[in-house]
Amino acid sequence: QPALDVEAIRRDFPILSQQVNGKPLVYLDNGASAQKPVAVLDAMDRYYREMHSNVHRGAHTLGDRATSAFEGARETVRGFLNAASTREIIWTRGTTEAINLVANGLAPRLQSGDEILVTQMEHHANIVPWQMVAERTGAKVIPIPVTPAGELELDSFHSLLNERTKVLAVAHVSNVLGTVNPIAALINEAKKRGIITLVDGAQAVPHYQPDVQALDCDFYAFSSHKMFGPTGIGVLYGKSHLLEEMPPYQGGGEMIERVSFERTTWNTLPYKFEAGTPAIAEAVGLGAAIDYLGSLDRKAMEAAESALLIRANDLVESVPGMEIIGTATDKVPVISFKIAGLHPSDIGTLLDQQGIAIRTGHHCAMPLMDFYGVPGTARASFAFYNTLNEVEQLFTALQKIQRLFA
Ligand code: PMP
Repeated sequence: QPALDVEAIRRDFPILSQQVNGKPLVYLDNGASAQKPVAVLDAMDRYYREMHSNVHRGAHTLGDRATSAFEGARETVRGFLNAASTREIIWTRGTTEAINLVANGLAPRLQSGDEILVTQMEHHANIVPWQMVAERTGAKVIPIPVTPAGELELDSFHSLLNERTKVLAVAHVSNVLGTVNPIAALINEAKKRGIITLVDGAQAVPHYQPDVQALDCDFYAFSSHKMFGPTGIGVLYGKSHLLEEMPPYQGGGEMIERVSFERTTWNTLPYKFEAGTPAIAEAVGLGAAIDYLGSLDRKAMEAAESALLIRANDLVESVPGMEIIGTATDKVPVISFKIAGLHPSDIGTLLDQQGIAIRTGHHCAMPLMDFYGVPGTARASFAFYNTLNEVEQLFTALQKIQRLFA
């Protein structure tokens, strides 16, 4: 199998070839937001130069061009996820808005005492919207525990399932631990009991191409900016029969069929959930990001990413007092870590001085930080455009920081 040509790929990402604090940038904060290839920048630029107008308004040529670019991007997303129809692809601002939309839409189905299962490793975006709907309905949000290695406790999952469980909302991949959760098995178990399933795919789509029909999840949410597309847009996939039953999330233009002061009726899917002028250029940019990913060899990409993780794991013992949090067997290339005697935020600042960008803090996963008894971690998250040399630079810098400051 031919290896991924990382040097060629890096030329597609102009932001990567710059100096930061006098050092070549080493960008290892992809979990927070990934960089954009020229293909995405060009698609958005071209959209604004040649096609921009409002969408779905008909009357003129630019409107038609904008609409076909926008709806073409929706079809690209549909193909990426292998959804049955573009009616099931809703544009949102991102994962956060997608989950809020679903939580709000399921509220009429929830009653006092009902249970919403999440996990101990969720991002706040997959906890707080459920807490808000629980507050309104009297339902309860219950976390599936994780093991010290950062994997879901599957026995606990099974024993938590009961006739009050109405929703299972789980991350495909943990943003802190990198754990790839066995979502197919979880969904399968939930289905047997008629439980509605939502997958937070924010950290999965930069690494994998999920097949929503094979998974048979009811909802799958992700953000464009983490998968090399622009900020400001994301996707909610939902099964059409559930989306049909759900009330709209916001009211306004686009989402209606007919408005009068006596009675307003909703537009058909997917527009019922897309009030207001959408993020058109961003949708086009996301489409271009998906096409770009599609042009790469997935197998080679996965092999290159796992080589990065293996190298990182091999180098951990070269830094005295360094400990990885999250040692799941199935993991994307993300390492959360602590180093004895150093505060995570100091690690971040000292690395930045050497041109190395990582993230530090609670990573919007405070319940998980509580579980590990840490205020936060340092996290290096890799993408397919990172090199083995960059992994080594990270560890050389960590060794130095440890020697001088721990
Ligand atoms: N879920 C997970 C697992 C995430 O990593 C993130 C982003 N850090 C989100 C949800 C929220 O995504 P966004 O901020 O793009 O809505």
